[in-house]
Amino acid sequence: MFAVAKAATVLGVNGHIVDVEVDLARGLPSFEIVGLPDTALRESRQRVRAALKNQGYAFPMHRLTVNLAPGNLRKTGSAFDLAIALGILAAGGLIPENRLQDVLVLGELSLDGKIRGVGGVLPMAMAAVCEGITEALVPVDNGSEAGLVQGLSAVVVQDLAEAVGVLTGCRSAAVPKPAEFLETGYSAVNDLSEVKGQLTARRALEIAAAGRHNLLLVGPPGCGKTMLARCLPGILPPLSNQEAVEVARIYSVANGGLGQLKLTLAPPFRSPHHSSTKAGIIGGGLLPHPGEVTLAHRGVLFLDEVGEFGRSVLDVLRQPLEDGVVSLVRYGYSVKYPSECQLVMAANPCPCGFLGSSIKECTCTGREIAAYRRRLSGPLLDRIDLQVWMDALKPKDYHTKQESSDKVRKRVVAARKAGDNTCDTNLGPADLSACARQILETAAERFRLSARAVQKTIKVSRTVALLGQSCQIGAEHVAEALTYRLSL
Ligand SMILES: [Zn+2]
Repeated sequence: MFAVAKAATVLGVNGHIVDVEVDLARGLPSFEIVGLPDTALRESRQRVRAALKNQGYAFPMHRLTVNLAPGNLRKTGSAFDLAIALGILAAGGLIPENRLQDVLVLGELSLDGKIRGVGGVLPMAMAAVCEGITEALVPVDNGSEAGLVQGLSAVVVQDLAEAVGVLTGCRSAAVPKPAEFLETGYSAVNDLSEVKGQLTARRALEIAAAGRHNLLLVGPPGCGKTMLARCLPGILPPLSNQEAVEVARIYSVANGGLGQLKLTLAPPFRSPHHSSTKAGIIGGGLLPHPGEVTLAHRGVLFLDEVGEFGRSVLDVLRQPLEDGVVSLVRYGYSVKYPSECQLVMAANPCPCGFLGSSIKECTCTGREIAAYRRRLSGPLLDRIDLQVWMDALKPKDYHTKQESSDKVRKRVVAARKAGDNTCDTNLGPADLSACARQILETAAERFRLSARAVQKTIKVSRTVALLGQSCQIGAEHVAEALTYRLSL
């Protein structure tokens, strides 16, 4: 007696369909799961056995073998419970043969046979459609995710008996409501109208948003670096529906299926603590999970007090930021996580925080400052396009009225649109006006700018030009871009 059910597993943020083959043979009663299962999956035996019994089904007194194919793919998690239980019932003849062939079955079983939500349903459902599967049985908690996938008719089930009823046609199926695209995320971040003073830094933030530039804010404690950085997602253009699904797919994997999926059009904002480990930032672990740089995909990764982060942690960020993808290799298989995000860092100028500030004397020794600078500088800093000094607020700044994020976002959206219409892959000195080129050459010589620094200045100049609705990069644009370089 033999049956096959379809389940799925997740590798990175991609789903992979897995055939759950169930064989009942004569012999001493036993229950084996083979095909590279992890611990959570091996424990599925106990859950399936108890759930079948408590829902009123007899557990077969046979030699029971469950094989998960393809055998070379590592399977993780508890999402296979329901497929295994239904496979056993199909092999025993309780569900018609072939009924399970084109149905994706996902869900964890509790001991009493209720079906619990699982992580990664969105990528798994997408993989099912690619494989030509048209139906899906999913837990109630994951209904909004599965309902989102075009070409898949998803049904939600609460317990094992209901799943059997739906498959045998005795019970009507409950169709889930697909998740909706929401624009609510913007209210969660700070608004630029709350930020006092700091005109240069505000301008740099706008340029960073318009040109997807990385940004470093340096200044004494309390000058508003964190507050300003938290405003960045609020002035970024909303995500497209496709990007929102991309982001939701990552959170579907990361959240482990807890709670309903939110499809927000506001770009994500992640601000990990400086005690975070390498695995926490770029992802990894024994069972690979996405890190902060992936959770910030299509949004902003903010490193506050960047000088306090471990040097090795900052070094591993380099490759994901450059390539837009994190590649991790684990025991013979590799996973890839997307990581296209904008980096914002905030730092004090020295360990005490008041070097060069107008409110207090710095009490650090030269050696302390040099050691601190060494931690900050290096390859990561080389990838920062905009570096801004922020001084402490002056009393007059408290009374100035400032633009709101909504207003600034309109300009950013316009600049992005203009930028997307023109090609910038081979942006070079030829795109600059003669006067602009001369300023750049003089600056490069005087400040000993590297080739990369020159290229970055040209890119920033272009964004400044786009924000000013200018087609050509002029002298004033290059001059402004050059002011966003600190000599750290
Ligand atoms: Zn100091």
